[in-house]
Amino acid sequence: MIRMSDNLYTFENEDYKKAYRHTTSHILAQAVKRLYPGTKLAIGPAIADGFYYDFDTEEPFTPETLEKLEAEMRKIIKEKLPLERFELPREEAVKFMEGLGEPYKAELIRDLPQDAVISFYKQGEFTDLCAGPHVDSTGRIKANAFKLTSATGAYWRGNSDNKMLQRIYGTCFQTRDELDKHLERIEEAKRRDHRKLGRELDLFALFDEGPGFPFFFPKGMVIRNELESYWRELHRKCGYQEIKTPIILNEELWHRSGHWDHYKENMYFTKIDEGDYAVKPMNCPGSMLSYKRRMWSYKDLPMRVGELGLVHRHELSGALHGLMRVRAFTQDDAHIFMTEDQVQDEILGVINKIDSVYKLFGFNYHIELSTCPEDFIGSQEMRNYSESILKEVLDRHGQAYVLNPGDGAFYGPKIDFHLEDAIGRTWQCGTIQLDFQMPERFELEYTGADGAKHRPIMIHTVAFGSLERFIGILTEHFAGAFPLWLAPVQAIVMPITDRSRDYAERVAAALNGKGFRVETDLRNEKIGYKIREAQMQKIPYMLVLGDKEAEDGTVTVRKRAGGDQGAMKLDDFIAAITAEKDTRAV
Ligand SMILES: [Zn+2]
Ligand SMILES: [Zn+2]
Repeated sequence: MIRMSDNLYTFENEDYKKAYRHTTSHILAQAVKRLYPGTKLAIGPAIADGFYYDFDTEEPFTPETLEKLEAEMRKIIKEKLPLERFELPREEAVKFMEGLGEPYKAELIRDLPQDAVISFYKQGEFTDLCAGPHVDSTGRIKANAFKLTSATGAYWRGNSDNKMLQRIYGTCFQTRDELDKHLERIEEAKRRDHRKLGRELDLFALFDEGPGFPFFFPKGMVIRNELESYWRELHRKCGYQEIKTPIILNEELWHRSGHWDHYKENMYFTKIDEGDYAVKPMNCPGSMLSYKRRMWSYKDLPMRVGELGLVHRHELSGALHGLMRVRAFTQDDAHIFMTEDQVQDEILGVINKIDSVYKLFGFNYHIELSTCPEDFIGSQEMRNYSESILKEVLDRHGQAYVLNPGDGAFYGPKIDFHLEDAIGRTWQCGTIQLDFQMPERFELEYTGADGAKHRPIMIHTVAFGSLERFIGILTEHFAGAFPLWLAPVQAIVMPITDRSRDYAERVAAALNGKGFRVETDLRNEKIGYKIREAQMQKIPYMLVLGDKEAEDGTVTVRKRAGGDQGAMKLDDFIAAITAEKDTRAV
């Protein structure tokens, strides 16, 4: 459950943190209006690590501009301007914003629901349309603990049909020390950026010809295939069967599943022989049809079915980001069909399965329970019942969790797993969704012990989430230095001179014969140069071979991390790395 801090005015209080950061975004907007008065304001929310504000202005926001704006922001903080809230009726609110020369704000107001309360916050000469809340004075913000980190282009409302605005990102904390630590982390994140590493290590890339549709190169495919093998092995152990369902299915299916009503903006459609078809955005309906292929008995349940299913979802072009946000991705989907009294144990089993996946990569994680959203398609009774089941399971499981009201799927509540990477960022990956609705809509049945027909209940679950995105996360988590079992090249053999060339080739062949991915560097280059290059490619093991090694049948081992390990018998080396690979050590 959410823990409320005793101290309301610290960042431990999420609401205060948000209000503090959002207030800083107002200060930025005020500074922009003071220095560049013709600027039109769009939106300026608090985000995970700070805030941003979108501006429509001719003034290009260069690093120098950002420094000027920071200086002006410090002035505004020093002025200790109180923030005063006031409301206006709709028409007046629109006129007020138009009077200030703010067409974007006026548009936002027009789009608000008829009964919305329209509030403004005023600080000194500056007023912004805003739902709040805010801290009470600009003086609350620490003048030495904020920074404008970057400026980029951003389409109005994220839509590439709209005008390109300029977005300034900033971050702020309550102390200088916290800010410095955060900025270091940003630098580290840049060094680890999967798009950069994906190019440098020749793993994957996105091209203009396929926006949001990633390419995987041979080395990236190695990582992908290893992850898939691991997934298959794990699911086999956990009693799952694997299926594959089509990417294109009749549109009618999506009406039945409810995706049409809830998801069609994100779907791609096509025509085949005059019929209307859709490209699947989710694997569930295919899995339903697969279940329905025959009649099942209660003895067949629980039925655990997995699918590495390629799905397509339309995302706005402004939202695309490397492998993290794409338009085509493979979900490591699993569906469990079960009887009512199997539900709790099955969910517990899935929680443990997901736990083992994250532990393997060294991720810490926390759990959130998201309850049903506004557009939930079942009855109130069903909503309460399904939410209470998940709560009970989580209580049985015993790990603390955060409650996330209204963030579930349209067909049911869910448990989400947020994992924390090596530099402290969190990513939502795994999920377990409880669903009474789809089996109803697709009229799934099984024969009970009583001989009568019954409706199964189902769970939808993923552990990686999107395989592509998970590879992006892993690339950043490991900074490209993948553990041995995932590393595209696991060892490289480097003779010091031409004299040990034959021996080097024999060593490489021996490793290859044991199933290792091995390369040789036979170029006529200095050994120091070869080592540096292999190090840049983050190859876990480098084998340096000279006359002595050739004579003794040994290899001198350098580790990517840890440097020179000295000489050892080739067989001993193979035994050691075989154990490391087979246990999937990190
Ligand atoms: Zn605001
Ligand atoms: Zn599903």
